[in-house]
Amino acid sequence: RESSIIHAATRYSGASAIKKAGADPKAYWTTQPDLAALNKQLEKLAVELQLDVIFLLNEEGYSIASSNSDTPGSIVGTFLADRHYYQDAIKGEKAHQYAVGRKTNVPGLYYSAPIMLGEHQHGVIVVKSDVPSLQGLLAPYHAFLTDSHDVVVLSSQPKFLQHMLNNARFLGLNTEEKEQQYKRSDFPTLQINRWDSNRPAPTLQLSDLPYPVLMTERQIPGGDLIMHMYQGMPELATIQREKLVFALFAALAGFSALSLLYQLIQYFSKLRQSKFHAEKESERLHETLSEREQQLEVILNHLPLMVVARDPASYQVLSSNDATQTVLGLDAPLPTGQTYSESLNPKVSGFLTAQDHEAAYEHTNKTRELQLEARVLQAQSFAAKDKDGAARLLIDLVEDITQQRRDEAEIRRLAFIDTLTGLNNRTSFMLHLEKALKEAKNQERFGALILIDLDAFKQINDHLGHSIGDELLKELAHRLRSEQTSEIFFARLASDEFVVVIDSASENQKTAARTATRIANVLLRKITRPYHLANHTLHITASLGIAVFGPGMAETPDLLLIQTDAAMYEAKRRQRGTIHFFDEATQKHLNDQAEMANRLRGALQTNDFEQYFQPQVDSTGRVIGVEALLRWHDSKLGRIPPSVFIPLAESLHLIAEIDRWVLKHACRVAGIWKPDPILGKVVISINVSAEYFSQDHFVSEVTSFLAQFNASPSQIMIEMTEGAVVEDTEANILKIAALHHAGLSIAIDDFGTGNSSLAYLRRFNVDQIKIDQRFVGDMINDERSQSIVAFIIRLAHELGYETLAEGVEVESQRVLLSHLGCTLLQGFLFSKPVPLAECEAYIRQHP
Ligand code: C2E
Ligand code: CA
Ligand code: CA
Repeated sequence: RESSIIHAATRYSGASAIKKAGADPKAYWTTQPDLAALNKQLEKLAVELQLDVIFLLNEEGYSIASSNSDTPGSIVGTFLADRHYYQDAIKGEKAHQYAVGRKTNVPGLYYSAPIMLGEHQHGVIVVKSDVPSLQGLLAPYHAFLTDSHDVVVLSSQPKFLQHMLNNARFLGLNTEEKEQQYKRSDFPTLQINRWDSNRPAPTLQLSDLPYPVLMTERQIPGGDLIMHMYQGMPELATIQREKLVFALFAALAGFSALSLLYQLIQYFSKLRQSKFHAEKESERLHETLSEREQQLEVILNHLPLMVVARDPASYQVLSSNDATQTVLGLDAPLPTGQTYSESLNPKVSGFLTAQDHEAAYEHTNKTRELQLEARVLQAQSFAAKDKDGAARLLIDLVEDITQQRRDEAEIRRLAFIDTLTGLNNRTSFMLHLEKALKEAKNQERFGALILIDLDAFKQINDHLGHSIGDELLKELAHRLRSEQTSEIFFARLASDEFVVVIDSASENQKTAARTATRIANVLLRKITRPYHLANHTLHITASLGIAVFGPGMAETPDLLLIQTDAAMYEAKRRQRGTIHFFDEATQKHLNDQAEMANRLRGALQTNDFEQYFQPQVDSTGRVIGVEALLRWHDSKLGRIPPSVFIPLAESLHLIAEIDRWVLKHACRVAGIWKPDPILGKVVISINVSAEYFSQDHFVSEVTSFLAQFNASPSQIMIEMTEGAVVEDTEANILKIAALHHAGLSIAIDDFGTGNSSLAYLRRFNVDQIKIDQRFVGDMINDERSQSIVAFIIRLAHELGYETLAEGVEVESQRVLLSHLGCTLLQGFLFSKPVPLAECEAYIRQHP
C-alpha cells in the first residue's frame, strides 16, 4: 500500500493542490478516484489491524484520506496541523499523542509517522486507537498511562480516567489549548499521597484504594506517554512474575493496538535484559511483526519464561520456546515428541509433572517451586481447553526466580539499612523509637534521644567533592558503631544527621539525662578526632541535641524529633561543636517559631506585606534601577526583618507563594511606571528563591503577570543567589534562556558568598553580578576583601557581565569602587529601601 500512500501524499500536497480542492475540499478529496481507492485500502488495513482509524495528512496538515471516509465521523477534509502528532511527524519523527477526536469526540491514542520518499517529506500517516478499545488491554493489571500534560489517558481502573496528576502540566495550557486537545477545561486530580504520613516508608495512598501501594513509572519509548504501574503491598511478593505474565497475556489478547503492544513488550524486555540485547531483540521483533503466527512465536521466544505445550493425553512435548533450554539448564533444546521423564533427569521431570493431573482436569492456578542447585524455579501448569471443555493443550510456564528471590531479600535489607554507612535508616529508626517510647511508658522508665548534626559538612562536600564527603560519613559511622551496646541504637537520618536512641533503663529523668550526657560526650570526642581521607586531614565538629523521653513527656516520635532538633539548633546557635538539652527556653523558642509560622501563613491573606524599593545608581548618581525588598508588619509581633522571616518561609515552603506575591506587585508597579518617561526606564529587581524558580510554571507566571499589568519584560530583573542557580544546572540553564528569550534580565545576588567560581557561571548567561555587601563593607580596612572585589569586577568585565556593588554606605567606598571599575551602586549612601511613593520621588530627583 506504500506506493499509493506516497502517490496520494505527493499529488494532493502543495498550494496548487489545495487550491484545486476548492471551497469544499472534503467533497473533492472523497470523490477523487485514486483517493477513493486508497480509502478502501485503509479501511481494510484498519480492520485487519483492529485499529479504530488510519488516516493520511498531506504536507499542509489536511486529512485527505481515511479509513472512515464513508462514515458520518469521516475525518477527510479536517485541518489537523495544530496537533502534536502532525507537527512532530512533519519534522521527520515518529510521535504519539493522546487527544479527543475532533469529529468523533472519542478520546484515543494517535501514532504518527512521516511519509518519506528518499529524503523528502510528503505528509504524515496516522493511526488511532480509541481509549475504549485500548482499555481492555490494561484492565487486568494495576497500571495507568499519562500523556505529556499529566492527564490519565488509559487506566486499569476506569475511575482514574479523565483525571490529572497533582500539579499537572495540563494546568499550564491556556483555555483554547485545553479545549482543542481535551474538549474540556478541567480535570479532577488523581490523589497520590503518602500512605502514612508518620512513617517515611515509600508506600502511597492512591486515590481511595483501601490498601497501600508502591509505584514506579517509565517513559514509553518514542513519545511522551508515561506508564505508571502500582502494586498493592500484600501482592508485592508476586510482582516479578506478574510482569512476565502481563507480557504473555498482552501477547495473547489479540493484536488490537499493535504499536502499544509492541511498546509494552519492549518495555518489559528491557526490565530483564541488558540494553544492547533488548535493542537487538526488538529490532528482530520489529522486522517479523507481519504475520500473526510468527508474531506469537517471536513473542513467546522473547519471554524470559519457559513456555512448553504438551499433549494432554500422551504428555509428550509438542513445542517449547527458546527460554526453555536456559531455564532448565539443558545443553540442547528440549526434544519434542518425548515426555519429560524420557528426556530430563528425575528430579526436574518430577517437578514439572507434579500437577499434571490437576492441570488437565481441574482449573488450577497453583504454583510450585524447586530448588535446583543454586537456582530456584517456579512453575505453573494449566490446560488450554476447547469450547466443549476438553483439554487441548497442557501448558507449562516455568520461571527462574533466583534473581527475584535475591532481590526480595535485598529489598527487605535495603528497607531498613542505610546503604552508605550500613547503619539503620530512617524507617527502622522510626520503628525502633516508637517501640522504645511505648516501652518507656509501660515500664515507667526513661530514655533519651540524641540528634547529631555535623557542622559545615556541606562545605566539605562542596570543596572536596562528594566522594570525600561519603568517605567521611562512612568513617564516622564506623566510629559510632564502635560504641554500640545493646541499649544504644544508631541510625542515619539524613545526609549528615545521625540519631542515637538510648533505651529506657533509667528510673527517673535525671539519671536518663546523665546517661545521655555521658554517651553524648563520648560520641562527640570520637566524632571530632581528625579524619585522614585521601591525602586530606579533616577536622570537623558536630552539634548535638538531646531530649529525654518517658512517662509524662513527648509521646510521639515526631514530637521527640522536633525537640531534639530544636535543642540541636540551640547548640549550633550558642556554640557549634557542643551539646544542648531540650529545655524550657528551647521550648519557648519553638513556641515562638510556631506562632510566627502561623502568622506568616496568614500574612499573605491579610495583606500584611509591603514592598519597599531601594534605588540603584550609576557613577553619576542617576537612578537606573530599584531593588524590591519585602517588609512584613505583623499586627501582634510588630515589624519582623526579612533576615528572620525569609528563612522561616523557606523552611515552611511558603517562600514560593511569597515570591509570587512579590513578582505580581513588582509587575503591577512596572505597569504603572511604563508610560512615564522617567520611571518607565527604571528596572525593578526582584529576589526569587530557588524554590519558586524551580517550579515548572515559573516562566509562564512571569510572562502572564507582565501581560496582566501591561508591563514590559525589560522592566524586570530577576535576582537569584549563586547557590540557587548552580543547584539544578541543566534545568536552570534552560529556564534562564527562556527568561532571556522573553526579554527579562538576570542578576546573581550576594556574589562571592557561595562556592562557585565566576568561570563556572559562564554557563549561565546572566546580565548582572551583585557583589555581596560583606566585601563592600570590609573593603576599606581589609585588603583581602578589596582584592576579592577587584578580582570579581575584572573577571566579570572580561566575561561581559555588568557589576553592581551592594551595601555602599560611605563616600570612600564609592570612590574606591568606581576606581576599581564598578559603576553601579546600591546602598544607604544613596537611599535606604523606602515605600513606593518615596522611591518615585527619589527617582524623579535623580533621573
Ligand atoms: P539582599 O537581596 O542581599 O538585599 C539587600 C539587603 O541589604 C536588604 O536587606 C537591604 O535593606 C540591605 N541594604 C541595602 N543597602 C545597605 C547598606 O548600605 N548597608 C547595609 N548594612 N545594608 C544594606 P533586607 O531588606 O533586610 O533584606 C534581607 C534579605 O532578605 C535580602 O538580602 C534578601 O535575601 C531577602 N529578601 C528581601 N526581600 C525579599 C523578597 O521579596 N523575596 C525573597 N525571596 N527574599 C527577599
Ligand atoms: Ca537581592
Ligand atoms: Ca544581596
